[in-house]
Amino acid sequence: MEADTKPKKPGARLCCVCNQRRAALKRPKTLEQICRECFYAVFEEEIHQVILENKLFKPGERIAIGASGGKDSTVLAYVLSEMNRRHNYGLDLFLLSIDEGITGYRDDSLETVKRNELQYGLPLKIVSYKDLYGWTMDEIVKMIGLKNNCTFCGVFRRQALDRGAALLKVDKVATGHNADDIAETVLLNILRGDIARLSRCTSIITGEDGPIPRCKPFKYTYEKEISSISLGCKNLNKFSTYAYFRKLDYFSTECIYSPNAYRGFAREFIKDLERIRPRAIHDIIKSGEDFRIATSTKMPEQGTCERCGYISSQKWCKACVLLEGLNRGLPKLGIGRNQGLNKDAKKDIKKDGRTKSIESKQCGSLDF
Ligand code: SF4
Repeated sequence: MEADTKPKKPGARLCCVCNQRRAALKRPKTLEQICRECFYAVFEEEIHQVILENKLFKPGERIAIGASGGKDSTVLAYVLSEMNRRHNYGLDLFLLSIDEGITGYRDDSLETVKRNELQYGLPLKIVSYKDLYGWTMDEIVKMIGLKNNCTFCGVFRRQALDRGAALLKVDKVATGHNADDIAETVLLNILRGDIARLSRCTSIITGEDGPIPRCKPFKYTYEKEISSISLGCKNLNKFSTYAYFRKLDYFSTECIYSPNAYRGFAREFIKDLERIRPRAIHDIIKSGEDFRIATSTKMPEQGTCERCGYISSQKWCKACVLLEGLNRGLPKLGIGRNQGLNKDAKKDIKKDGRTKSIESKQCGSLDF
């Protein structure tokens, strides 16, 4: 831990926790002025408490950390390995990365994950779309263009994570979704009228009825505290955050195929709200948690895909439908209302009057 040894300037504000060292940042979550050391301590302690209160892990479990090389998953890998050591969680931790086959983006970010593997001493498993599906995202985009690429990518990633987790024989997958991601997802699910996802998107553990549950230790952690940096505080040199202060090695470039305008608008909307009401993110999550779905609402029934055995509410899972469309040279077969390959799916979409596009966390979106 790097000590703040700079002499205190006359009038410099002291940390409101230790009242000894100079304050180095204003916590976005509480607006307290705090020194680096106390920030590390409260940040890590809050996550530790979330893990304990929600019983996210049990001693002896094998846990895969979904690692993209981005800020959130890098902080998650660092903090979980620290907490595991410090508080004797007794976990076997692994890094699990998905290689979508996006030249100039994923190949570079995977280099970061490979360095993290050495830095944190966590074994790394990489599963690729090419190996699992026979297609890279570069090839898919070449065929379909940039319109529905994130639907393919999100569906394939979800299944790829499960398959990677099965190869690692883990009990659970931990992902770096933070409070901002979850608030955005609540809002998007309302805007899309996606009741099934709305009912589960705020859960800190999901998929307990599926093959491998997932959990979100950063559910209550604001993105700004994890990674963002903004200059220009009147009283302090900088607002900075965990990844920056800890000098963690992460990759911050956006995906070259990222259009995702809809989520972008939701994100900007929430940021505007937050400027006026700093609790906005917390309140949106709370609203999502408190929604009660009417018992008369028809929810999809979980079964298994007849083709690959993956969890699915349709005859074929979405990945098999999309893949069949790609392999037949008819990629639109798997998109939205044109799902000619899955009559049941088509019926359901008509009934709901909506499509079921899935976006991913790596591009700042989230869909479990
Ligand atoms: Fe995949 Fe995200 Fe890139 Fe879309 S923006 S292609 S979901 S990595």
